[in-house]
Amino acid sequence: MGIGLAVFCRECDYSRHIELGVGMRYAPENILDFESGKPMLWTLIRSRKTVEQIKALVEEERAVMAGRYGHYIYRCPECGELHSRFFIHLDYSGGSFEPVYRCGRCRSTLSRVDHFSGEGFFEERIAGIIASLPCPKCGRRSLQIDDAVTIMWD
Ligand SMILES: [Zn+2]
Ligand SMILES: [Zn+2]
Repeated sequence: MGIGLAVFCRECDYSRHIELGVGMRYAPENILDFESGKPMLWTLIRSRKTVEQIKALVEEERAVMAGRYGHYIYRCPECGELHSRFFIHLDYSGGSFEPVYRCGRCRSTLSRVDHFSGEGFFEERIAGIIASLPCPKCGRRSLQIDDAVTIMWD
């Protein structure tokens, strides 16, 4: 089950919707179902180039998904903007692959925030992570999750 978060800043008008986790149909065989001509990956990763890269690895190198996958928070190390992107890790005999995403604002390479590591309940951990990040707009550590609009999807 995925979770949708509304992140907002207490000090300015910054707000952002973030999706995390996986949906019910997010099985590896659905995500990488290139034979059907409609793999779920198309809806998960917007970059056509990245999808083509993964397709080639699956079809030519027999790459397989390994470890955790799903929607994560990706943060821009330059401007601090938060993005929701799909993480996937593929292993094949010649190496491994993870998608690289760029910030829509400043084109820097985004870094993934690992919300699985750490203590406590998922919701508390996410709230802690969000609170520790400076607001992309005003720079203050005043980001918060609006609990009233947290939604579960799928
Ligand atoms: Zn940026
Ligand atoms: Zn702010």
